[in-house]
Amino acid sequence: MDLHFTEEQIMIKEMIRQFARSHIEPFAQEYNLKGEFPSEIIKELAGLGLFGMMIPERYGGSDAGAVSYSLALQEIAFSCASVAVTLSVTNLTTEPIMKYGTEEQKRNYLIPMASGEYLGAFALTEPDAGSDPAGLRTSAVKKGSKYIINGTKQFITNGKYAGLFVLIARTAPGRGGLSAFIVPRNTKGLKIGKEEKKMGLSASNTVEIILEDCEVPEELLLGKEGMGLNIALNALDSGRIGIASQAAGMIHACLMEALNYSKERKQFGKAIIKHQAINNMIADISVDHEAAGLLTWSAASLKDRGKAFTKEASIAKLFATEALNRCAYKALQIFGGYGYIKEYKIERIYRDARVTTIYEGTSEIQRMVIGREAERM
Ligand SMILES: Cc1cc2nc3c(=O)[nH]c(=O)nc-3n(C[C@H](O)[C@H](O)[C@H](O)COP(=O)(O)OP(=O)(O)OC[C@H]3O[C@@H](n4cnc5c(N)ncnc54)[C@H](O)[C@@H]3O)c2cc1C
Repeated sequence: MDLHFTEEQIMIKEMIRQFARSHIEPFAQEYNLKGEFPSEIIKELAGLGLFGMMIPERYGGSDAGAVSYSLALQEIAFSCASVAVTLSVTNLTTEPIMKYGTEEQKRNYLIPMASGEYLGAFALTEPDAGSDPAGLRTSAVKKGSKYIINGTKQFITNGKYAGLFVLIARTAPGRGGLSAFIVPRNTKGLKIGKEEKKMGLSASNTVEIILEDCEVPEELLLGKEGMGLNIALNALDSGRIGIASQAAGMIHACLMEALNYSKERKQFGKAIIKHQAINNMIADISVDHEAAGLLTWSAASLKDRGKAFTKEASIAKLFATEALNRCAYKALQIFGGYGYIKEYKIERIYRDARVTTIYEGTSEIQRMVIGREAERM
């Protein structure tokens, strides 16, 4: 793998790092403690063009590529995982529109998404269909020139603030009976349900979406009827690079928190970093930081070069998110009792880390994908 970053990629990383450290880091703790959606920060990210990084220039984006996007996301996740997931889910939503959308759909929806005017939400999960999307029940029945959609979507990130949803519903029985739709926010029959109170990611929005005779014009079908499962799985391949990037950025934060604290804190007459047990934990976090970054960049680089990356995205997601959880555990341990107190950033990282092995495909599902792909070799 070529690990040479272009000047542009380095410049993007530096610019986003400076922005995140000065405009996100000082406010992240407060937004998370209050459980408040960081609308002001999201507006600033939009101003920097971060929602259009993967969108072609002709639709208002910068087409910066997956490696640049991953680097940017890592820098944001370093400061606030909630802001990072808001951005990455919007990008997950643009992906299927770019790949399967008609010219009209692209013009109508990618342009406001690139500018950040519309946040995106990806509505796949249902109360009885999580890891196995083929089991989903939300129905889309064609009536004249419209689809009438009925059902409930569960755990939808950005739902309350999204300008549009990419929603998967059933148009026929069986695995091949799913279809994908673009559903704009103001569509009749789409209601925002319960807002979830979560263990972490408290500044991100997660809601239930209720569809009651929701009328979607046939022009908003993405691709063709029956392509829904493929469209969703394809989008999730890219989404997993996003979650791996989020985790890699959070591991970096664990490392810096642990380093700074262990150099300052003294016990038994010396800085705790000088105790071998603590120093070994710092070493372990450093190894996971390097490895998570490399696996994530490797998957992103394959994507940029137009190569298959399903297996590599799952490997990166599996490794980085599991590594993050052990790093957060160790970093919090280094803080001793202070790590358990909400005032400290590591307490937030520890809670935010937990969901990363669950959403956009659990670790068990990543192992299934990797094992299946390996079997083909
Ligand atoms: C904060 C948050 C945000 C989310 N955002 C979104 C979103 O924006 N859009 C969206 O559509 N969804 C979203 N989700 C849903 C998320 O993707 C699902 O929770 C996840 O896919 C798992 O589904 P489930 O919760 O129904 O668990 P289940 O599928 O019921 O799994 C339960 C357990 O069984 C295991 N399991 C299941 N099948 C197998 C198998 N074949 N082999 C081995 N083990 C298996 C799982 O790994 C897990 O450990 C979000 C979830 C959370 C918590």
